[in-house]
Amino acid sequence: MIWRRRPKSPKVVRHKPRCSFCGKEKGERGVQLVAGPGVYICSECISVANDILRGHNPPAPA
Ligand SMILES: [Zn+2]
Repeated sequence: MIWRRRPKSPKVVRHKPRCSFCGKEKGERGVQLVAGPGVYICSECISVANDILRGHNPPAPA
């Protein structure tokens, strides 16, 4: 007997989307993720990136 399983949705999500920079998961309070091609960035990292773009470089993590 041939049994073919079809996924309900053509888009298969293998893992929860999480920020590629700090690892925060979508769903944490106040965290919004922006999806790029294969990556995500959260609202916090976006504000950090904004600071960097404005010339305020935070100390790099060790
Ligand atoms: Zn982040």
